[in-house]
Amino acid sequence: MKYISTRGEAPVLNFEEVLLTGLARDGGLYLPESWPTFNAEEIRAMRGMSYQQVAFKVMSPYVCSEIPEDDFKDLIEKAYSSFRHDAIVPLSQIGSNEWILELYHGPTLAFKDVALQLLGRLFSYVLNKRREKITIVGATSGDTGSAAIDCVRGSKSADIFMLHPKGRVSDVQRRQMTTVIEDNVHNIALEGDFDNCQALVKALFNDLEFRDQINLSAVNSINWARVMAQIVYYFTAALALGAPDRRVSFSVPTGNFGDVYAGYIAKQMGLPIEQLVVATNVNDILSRTLSSGEYKVGETIPTISPSMDIQVSSNFERLLFNIYDGDGSEIRNLMENLKQAGVFTISDAQLTRAKETFTAMRVSEEETKNTIADVFKTSGHMIDPHTAVGVFAARKIWLDHKIPMVSLSTAHPAKFPEAVNEVTGKHPELPPHMADLFEREEKFDTLANDLATLKSYILENI
Ligand SMILES: *Cc1c(COP(=O)(O)O)cnc(C)c1O
Repeated sequence: MKYISTRGEAPVLNFEEVLLTGLARDGGLYLPESWPTFNAEEIRAMRGMSYQQVAFKVMSPYVCSEIPEDDFKDLIEKAYSSFRHDAIVPLSQIGSNEWILELYHGPTLAFKDVALQLLGRLFSYVLNKRREKITIVGATSGDTGSAAIDCVRGSKSADIFMLHPKGRVSDVQRRQMTTVIEDNVHNIALEGDFDNCQALVKALFNDLEFRDQINLSAVNSINWARVMAQIVYYFTAALALGAPDRRVSFSVPTGNFGDVYAGYIAKQMGLPIEQLVVATNVNDILSRTLSSGEYKVGETIPTISPSMDIQVSSNFERLLFNIYDGDGSEIRNLMENLKQAGVFTISDAQLTRAKETFTAMRVSEEETKNTIADVFKTSGHMIDPHTAVGVFAARKIWLDHKIPMVSLSTAHPAKFPEAVNEVTGKHPELPPHMADLFEREEKFDTLANDLATLKSYILENI
């Protein structure tokens, strides 16, 4: 498979190169040249397969012959052996024809593990083969950080620097990162918000000299391999509910647009997806954009679903590339407007195409809390605030109740115990492997929101 940049001016790469590269050298994001597709018969043949088997089927066309089949199967097996549930991502019913897809049974309790447990193993495999070392620099709104650290901790071929917005992630989220005491793990609390963290990481990638000097790599969802691994669970969930002979809808709590974009790809690959609901909290740039066409960056407001407190959604650029038929110059124009004026506008024809698949909704803090309470009362399931944003939006804009609605449950409720406890009166317990999280020693440094400071910190600690 060949990969091309959304901005049309970076070299064409193969899978291995894309895995190690992260952001394209022209500032764009990499995408496969075309979507592999499955017909109904091929999808039907996946029924009854294990998660790992479906993962192999769905991802193979993207990896092609670059990794031998048996090696790739082995990497998949090992990645998902770290999950605490046999089904890897089980479905639970919370209402009539209404489901949640529990994506939080991995080591750090959020859906990020599904992609990152595989990504870490792909990194080691490829780096060992090439005898290379990389430096991973990432930004986290809370969950990517711990999932990424977990997948490379102790690695001899990677150093990881993880930036989180100081004071804006939950205590559980912070401790999951800062209590990993390893020589190759460097936690940074940045004086700023998530968008500041993400902007610094992008600036490092756009500094081509520095980037080559440290062999920079990405674990954020700008990395194609992460999005690729997330396509799989749309297939397993839809298969369990009757696909390809029945359509299925999904609601996705959204921040950086990586997760819901993986659903869009599943649909392009032939999976019969009816609706894809883009559920946002009050940081609603995506719901505004999908209704008016105007992508306008506002202030980030802290909420009880902090992993979605994002205004600049990186992966939205990938969708733009698709709805503009792969015209890199159009994307360069839009991104230039964004840089100059903090806003761009999608043309009517392209917006209509986006709306064929996506419906978006903004969910308030009040609505989020009420949904946690209501789901607990009516089904006995405790859901976290991010999941609740998705469930609320799903219920509001579910067009046809005969079509099953699956809300992606992106985090374990114990990751956000205050909010859950406040409305259910019950304290969600951390799983046993994390029960002593609050007794462990923490290690991190606080840095100003400044590129030069970050660069020298990285060079000193590498
Ligand atoms: C990262 C995250 C999201 C948002 O996912 P995107 O791919 O960035 O849209 C939602 N919920 C939780 C719990 C997360 O960690």
